[in-house]
Amino acid sequence: MIFQENISLAQYTTFKIGGSARFFCLVASIDELKEAFEFAQKKSVPFFVLGGGSNLLISDEGFHGLVIKMEIRGKKIGDRSQKLEVATVSAGAGEMWDEFVEWTLVNGFNGLENLSAIPGTVGAAPVQNIGAYGTEVGQFISTVHAFDTHTMKEIELNARDCHFGYRNSMFKHEKGRYIITHVDFALRNDGKVNVEYKDLRNYFNDQVTITNSQITPLQVREAVIDIRWNKLPDWNTWGTAGSFFKNPIVTQEKFDELKVKYPGMPSFPEASGGIKIPLGWILDNVCQLKGVMTGGVGTYEKQALVIITKPGAKALEVVAFTQDLMKQVKEATGIMIEAEVEWVN
Ligand SMILES: Cc1cc2nc3c(=O)[nH]c(=O)nc-3n(C[C@H](O)[C@H](O)[C@H](O)COP(=O)(O)OP(=O)(O)OC[C@H]3O[C@@H](n4cnc5c(N)ncnc54)[C@H](O)[C@@H]3O)c2cc1C
Repeated sequence: MIFQENISLAQYTTFKIGGSARFFCLVASIDELKEAFEFAQKKSVPFFVLGGGSNLLISDEGFHGLVIKMEIRGKKIGDRSQKLEVATVSAGAGEMWDEFVEWTLVNGFNGLENLSAIPGTVGAAPVQNIGAYGTEVGQFISTVHAFDTHTMKEIELNARDCHFGYRNSMFKHEKGRYIITHVDFALRNDGKVNVEYKDLRNYFNDQVTITNSQITPLQVREAVIDIRWNKLPDWNTWGTAGSFFKNPIVTQEKFDELKVKYPGMPSFPEASGGIKIPLGWILDNVCQLKGVMTGGVGTYEKQALVIITKPGAKALEVVAFTQDLMKQVKEATGIMIEAEVEWVN
């Protein structure tokens, strides 16, 4: 295996920001992963597992340990359960998420279509339980295969073990312990779709010739791609990691108090309890922060929750800008918002 030194990490992230990794390697098998882990131990340096770099803000100083770029590939359709029309569909952690979604649909398996066009890798999807358009990946995960760096063993975790929540999972709480190598999904081939989410419902309502029962999973994928394309910045031009913050979840009491002050404030009941408020709405309507730029960093003109950067922007500028947003939201609503994007240094 090749361990490179002083490799710029900006090129491996969608923010296009960040200093260098002291050591860097590509890992394409479980044996290589073990070798990389042993290398970090021998050098007495920390390690960091990098997928597609689409949910990270890497410091201008970079990372002083070993960055392990996950490249374990492979996709397969396993045994079908005849009764339930469910099949186990598996992918290596280094597969690109959206290519995998398309592949499952082309092979006749539905479920992941609402999660189309999310950047990143299969291995990172369980980490923050990626979600979009009324679907979360945890709903479809049957087994996560991982290397446990504490016991040095390959293990299998079922969905319950993963403790999936809103943009959350056990992998965030036990940071660095588990390196995901493969993920198994339980997918159906019954063609059923979920277009309950407002944007999707409106999209199909506009197409009067299509009735709900006729909508196919591939059409949902196309719709999601279309909607996202019109709502999100082109990350080939801008630096971005998508939504920078999580939507806050507050108590009913807190929401009632805010609703008096801001009658138009939308909300959604959160499955795990509490009321979820779209932060984009607060940033836009309460703080008037949609489409504002400070130097090389700003909020996207179509969605204030999305932070964008111009070429050459520094991580520290993003930190200063986002801390200011947090302060303004706290002052206006009393809510302490939380970053979804991970800070790496
Ligand atoms: C334009 C844009 C739109 C986005 N839209 C959405 C969206 O709609 N919904 C959503 O949920 N997210 C969204 N995201 C965020 C991002 O795409 C997801 O969080 C994605 O899962 C990150 O994958 P990645 O491979 O890039 O992970 P990285 O950013 O490389 O890593 C993220 C975290 O996962 C860990 N990790 C990565 N691979 C592994 C592994 N194999 N084992 C253990 N840990 C691992 C990393 O160490 C890090 O902690 C968006 C991002 C962008 C840029």
